Amino acid sequence: MAFNLEKILRPHILNLVPYSSARDEYTGKEGIFLDANENPYAAANGQAWNRYPDPYQWAIKEKLAPIKGVRPSQIFLGNGSDEPIDLLVRATCTPREDNMILLPPTYGMYQVSADINDVAAIKVSLTSDFQIDTEKVLAAITPHTKIIWVCSPNNPSGNSVKREAIYALLEHFSGLVVVDEAYIDFSDEPSFTQELDTYPNLVVLQTFSKAWGLASLRLGMCFASEEIIKVLNKIKPPYNLSGATQQLLLEALNHVETKNKMVRDILAERARLGTNLLCLPLVKKIYPSDANFLLVAFEDASAVMQYLIDQKIIVRDRSKVLLCDGCLRITVGTPEENDILIKTLREFAVVV
Ligand code: PMP
Repeated sequence: MAFNLEKILRPHILNLVPYSSARDEYTGKEGIFLDANENPYAAANGQAWNRYPDPYQWAIKEKLAPIKGVRPSQIFLGNGSDEPIDLLVRATCTPREDNMILLPPTYGMYQVSADINDVAAIKVSLTSDFQIDTEKVLAAITPHTKIIWVCSPNNPSGNSVKREAIYALLEHFSGLVVVDEAYIDFSDEPSFTQELDTYPNLVVLQTFSKAWGLASLRLGMCFASEEIIKVLNKIKPPYNLSGATQQLLLEALNHVETKNKMVRDILAERARLGTNLLCLPLVKKIYPSDANFLLVAFEDASAVMQYLIDQKIIVRDRSKVLLCDGCLRITVGTPEENDILIKTLREFAVVV
């Protein structure tokens, strides 16, 4: 179906004149900078944070683009994935008029962002094996549907969504299909970033919070066509990533191998944790995971959850979530942490 970005954007966003920062107007690196009302002196502790950072983070994008197999102009970096999620909603959905489609059970921020922006969320449940019911999703689209949110690997179920279903949405829906790949490094599936040049309505989200171990820095990635990225740049806060964050990320990008090693370790632990948990009589089922967590169905999830809290082990109770009856979501920890979890659960079986 033909995609026309102008039809997807809210009319006022299309015509918006963005804030123009001093660093937008003169982009040279050398000179005497008297244009941004900065303090010319470094801070008292001697650290030179007195200058505004690059609003578009070009040094990072140049370094990240070859790692991800995209062009720098196809990258938007935000304050966590939360920022591009919110910007995408604000750019496309007129409150009380437009809507978006969510596929529960899924990541909670899409609904929260809909609620914050007073935008309706049409929910089309995943199937019992957490796959997309393509026919139902396509039938749910209205003339006011602007975005379909797909999470793959999905949170909280952990599985990857079948690629054919995502292709079907990309081909039959003329709005944006956002594929949230926060957990993609833990999966063998290729990223949808390789499809960006084929599908102008595709947006891919990734994050530095999981495989890269940088959750505290708040760094989300958004990959899309240059036109879509330009819109996000137009409406973001001008200096959305601090200079300190940019510097720390530039350093981290030198250590792709360390990240890959961490991922391999976590995957080995995911397998070991799964095998050990399955031996416990109180575990009913472990869902297949392409992520750094396991969705585990227990005989009595609330009792297990409370017992673990008493032992100062915190997991996520998903037992009230659609299709996740009796389930706890357990993040894969270090070998030592996983050993303690397994030992504690063995003891629970004895105590009860
Ligand atoms: N997307 C999904 C699917 C997630 O599960 C999470 C974190 N729980 C995020 C995005 C959030 O990522 P960030 O830390 O970049 O905001």
